[in-house]
Amino acid sequence: MAARRGDGGGVPGGAGASAHGRLLHDPATGDALAAPLAKVLGAGAKKIATLGPTTVGDLLRYYPRRYQDPGTYTEMAQLVEGEHVTIVAKVVSATTRTMQSRPGAILAVRVTDGHDDLQLTFFARSRQRLFMHERRLVPGAEGMFTGTVGTYRGTRQLTHPEFLLLSENDLTTAEAQERARWPRPIYPASAKVTTLEIQKAVSTVLGPLTEADLPDPLPEDVRRRRGLLSLADALHQVHVPHDDAQWRAARRRLRFEEAFVLQTELARRRGDVQSRGAVPRPLRGEEHPGLLAQFDARLPFTLTRGQRAVGAEIAQDLARPTPMLRLLQGDVGSGKTVVALRAMLQVVDAGGQAVLLAPTEVLAVQHARSMSTLLGELAEGGYLSGATDSTRVTLLTGSLGAKQRREALLDAASGSAGIVVGTHALLAEHVQFADLGLVVVDEQHRFGVEQRDVLRTRFDVQPHMLVMTATPIPRTVAMTVFGDLVTSTLEELPAGRAEVTTVVVPADNPTWTARVWARVREEVDAGRRAFVVCPRICADPDLMPAAGPAGDGDEADVLGLDAGAPGGGPEREGEPRVLRAVDEVLAELRAMPVLDGVRIGELHGRMTPADKDAAMSAFAAGQLDVLVATTVIEVGVDVPAASAMVVLDADRFGISQLHQLRGRVGRGSDPGICLLVSSAPEGSVAAERLAALAATTDGFVLARKDLELRNEGDVLGGAQWGRSSSLRLLRVLKDEDLIEQARQDAVVLVADDPALDAHPVLLGAIQHELAGREEFIDRA
Ligand code: ADP
Ligand code: MG
Repeated sequence: MAARRGDGGGVPGGAGASAHGRLLHDPATGDALAAPLAKVLGAGAKKIATLGPTTVGDLLRYYPRRYQDPGTYTEMAQLVEGEHVTIVAKVVSATTRTMQSRPGAILAVRVTDGHDDLQLTFFARSRQRLFMHERRLVPGAEGMFTGTVGTYRGTRQLTHPEFLLLSENDLTTAEAQERARWPRPIYPASAKVTTLEIQKAVSTVLGPLTEADLPDPLPEDVRRRRGLLSLADALHQVHVPHDDAQWRAARRRLRFEEAFVLQTELARRRGDVQSRGAVPRPLRGEEHPGLLAQFDARLPFTLTRGQRAVGAEIAQDLARPTPMLRLLQGDVGSGKTVVALRAMLQVVDAGGQAVLLAPTEVLAVQHARSMSTLLGELAEGGYLSGATDSTRVTLLTGSLGAKQRREALLDAASGSAGIVVGTHALLAEHVQFADLGLVVVDEQHRFGVEQRDVLRTRFDVQPHMLVMTATPIPRTVAMTVFGDLVTSTLEELPAGRAEVTTVVVPADNPTWTARVWARVREEVDAGRRAFVVCPRICADPDLMPAAGPAGDGDEADVLGLDAGAPGGGPEREGEPRVLRAVDEVLAELRAMPVLDGVRIGELHGRMTPADKDAAMSAFAAGQLDVLVATTVIEVGVDVPAASAMVVLDADRFGISQLHQLRGRVGRGSDPGICLLVSSAPEGSVAAERLAALAATTDGFVLARKDLELRNEGDVLGGAQWGRSSSLRLLRVLKDEDLIEQARQDAVVLVADDPALDAHPVLLGAIQHELAGREEFIDRA
């Protein structure tokens, strides 16, 4: 059922602008939706702008957060105290007086429905402030009044009811009684702008708009196939629903539109990438075995079934003339690196180069080192020519000395390095490759928006791309964010992995915390090693960590912001507490009798790259027993002899971060222990996070738990999603079916009309919604 047009939305002053309908149109563009709100609302536009909307289109997309049951329209005789009601009644009398018991004035209005009567009460600081109400609520005036029924000295009353006068809205009594049954939209309001003011503004703007003013981005056939309302109907019904079914249908259609616009853009980009083509890098045949075959032969372990299966998928992708875009998910320790390395070797065997992009220097250095070790003499070559079966692994990071840097750049440009490992320094303009065939991005969730953007635009001929993550991405999120990006998952961990036991240790219990360090001592005595992670680098109170998204690798590290606030957000109960810092904990542990003779080092982002490297190497080589570090060790660090992970202020970290940290231990055959020292009060979200970690080591279970405990905006990587204007109603977790439908429809449409020539409105919606918000799509 279509909503009534021009009915002013059922709020005071709503229909006022209908006579000036044409004024809504932006004279410059003729586009009703682009018209500035100031033109339609006058001075009121300023207030609305504080909520965000500045144009007619913005405001129409400012949807109610929920709908309130108006309460069954009530005959006055049946009013029950405490109920939320709407009544239609006539004013009998209205009197203002100053109050005796306290300062201020009171306006008492008696209203009747012809049988019974009721008092409306308005309080204010002065009589003057009641003047406007008094002038409108004159005897004889008929209105709709909404509020909660109370009693005062035996008289039933509504205190500060919302009201609408029939005469001001050209309503008959019957129409008002009808309207009193409509669900009441509740908007995301602020202290300055009430939901009623928003409702009025929306009605003013919406009232005069017709189907012609509201062109629909959804193609007619899609709408018909999916049984969806037109845009005009949807906007009327979402803002001025006459019953619950109306707003439900409207929201469904608007959600679909959001999904469809996004999926259309994703389909177009995919088409664009595919059309650019890539160089096929097929596997060598058995008659000319290359590096990959030799590598497999000398591998010190057997690949898991998953590693082999995913490897085969990737091998096929690489042989195609279209760029691979594959996401490799695998829990911490599942062995993604070797899968990546095998893909890289296939590309090198086919005459190309491969790049491995790591989010931190520590990780890049470690990758370069462990790849060289795994490759052995295979990595000692200098030439790409097919004749010599060897290549070179080159490290390229921002902190290389001038000479090393020149050499690395030369290796990359000449092609003598088949494999280049580095941080985002690799993406700089001046870094040239002889023949780049594959880009592997490790731990993609740690990369920032700009870096991902460079990845997409840096190369003319698209290299194949493999994106790796240990943070499982739910199917719907992957579908929304990546569109058709193909996902492979390593389900199993390599055999022989030891268990990691996780214990939450209350920070305020001295017996328990003493036990933590005794445990560390035991591990060291058994020849094993321990990490101790702190949220901060120094105890200097001027360098308190700012609240923000989860740790950000080297950059945040350098600023002393290592851990940042955890994904779930810190509890903000009580006093801000001083978090443990590396320098302070280092000194404490060195002075601790129980750790006497234990060799303790530090690792954090404020050390020079050479010092960081030295600390990491010393720890890996067993010259240090304990490493006190920031989350700079969060991802990827692989030291099999490390068996204990102590996280201080663990309640300040997010689930995935802690899971990653825990993944640093239990990599060898020795069982690991993870001690999470926490100050989280019982029953808090932080305590629940830690309990979840103690309960399971399954990254997928934890990822789901994480989603439950935090809001979606965070999950999708940054505040943009939550506040974005392009995803207002769509909920990627709940709307899975709808997103799937939208994706199917979008794929069909784009295959048919890649440039969207026949769908200018849809194209406009994409441009409008996604302008400046490319980060939504460029997570790959
Ligand atoms: P992640 O998936 O977390 O990046 P890594 O690739 O760092 O995991 O692998 C973790 C450890 O497991 C490494 O030491 C690696 O050499 C080892 N590893 C990988 N695959 C296997 C396997 N099939 N069998 C035994 N060990 C393996
Ligand atoms: Mg890894």
